[in-house]
Amino acid sequence: MEPRANSQEAPFAVGVDVGGTKIHAGVINRQGDVIAEHYLPTLVHQQDVISRIIEAIECVVQKAGPAFQGTPFKGIGIGTAGQIHWETGTVQYGLDLIPGYTGTPIKSILEQKFSLPVYVDNDVNVLALTEKYFGIGSKARHMLCLALGTGVGGAVVIDGKLVHGSWGAAGEIGHMSVNYKGPTCICGGIGCLELYASGTGIARMMQELQERKGIAGNPIPIESKEVVRRWLQGDSDSTQIMDEVIMALGAGISSLIHILNPDAIVIGGGVAEIGEPLFGPLRDEVAKRTMPSLHKDVWIGPACMRNRSGMIGAGLQAWEYESFSL
Ligand SMILES: [Zn+2]
Repeated sequence: MEPRANSQEAPFAVGVDVGGTKIHAGVINRQGDVIAEHYLPTLVHQQDVISRIIEAIECVVQKAGPAFQGTPFKGIGIGTAGQIHWETGTVQYGLDLIPGYTGTPIKSILEQKFSLPVYVDNDVNVLALTEKYFGIGSKARHMLCLALGTGVGGAVVIDGKLVHGSWGAAGEIGHMSVNYKGPTCICGGIGCLELYASGTGIARMMQELQERKGIAGNPIPIESKEVVRRWLQGDSDSTQIMDEVIMALGAGISSLIHILNPDAIVIGGGVAEIGEPLFGPLRDEVAKRTMPSLHKDVWIGPACMRNRSGMIGAGLQAWEYESFSL
């Protein structure tokens, strides 16, 4: 079943969250209620990702079918890994995670296929839309979002609007340098925040610490989750690593506060699931590094929704940009 033609009054949209391992599609309304949802493995090495996206959309519309009785859709929103040329809805730069993705004209392929308005953005930018509609962003006009996962993603909302920059790549907060003499990042930069505040960065720092301490043989790599678990139990090596994480995040967030004077900093992703043991010291670190006049009213806290936020935010684009002609 295919979604039918759009209407200004249409109460539903399709949202699709595209990652390197799975695709999560859903039918949502403006209130963020999920009418139907469907997960598919991305199968990056077996099929074109765009064919999988189409399959996910068809499956979820099929699932939602009986609830609709022919109701038209407002549009389709895609939130995807990689850098997206926002106006054309083309993958400007796909990650190694999805081979062959770079250059895929997602928007034009899906508009031709479904005859609906299609909006395509980076996965962290659409997470920020979920925060804007249902989280602290419903009150905060100026908001920064960080997603601390395998990497560090970011999004910037100023005056209630997502900042896309020249072509769509604004908000790469993970690649802001917090150490100009630091290690080289995969992006080519030096001392990027992602090298310290991501799961990968935490595991790397622990590995290096073990090597410095001359632990015999090949030290078994310790995953970031294990570092966090040991930190919460008071282990001194893990405390040293997590102090670095908090200082790096504090330095980055403080710089962003000085540049953008935001009302709120929202932090999501796996690393942020630590909760208050992370947020407490992080707030202190940011306070220490930021001018009191800029810092005093800034809210710093967790993202509002979890595993469905990407898909819901993707779908919300249909309302966010309905008056735009992209
Ligand atoms: Zn970088």
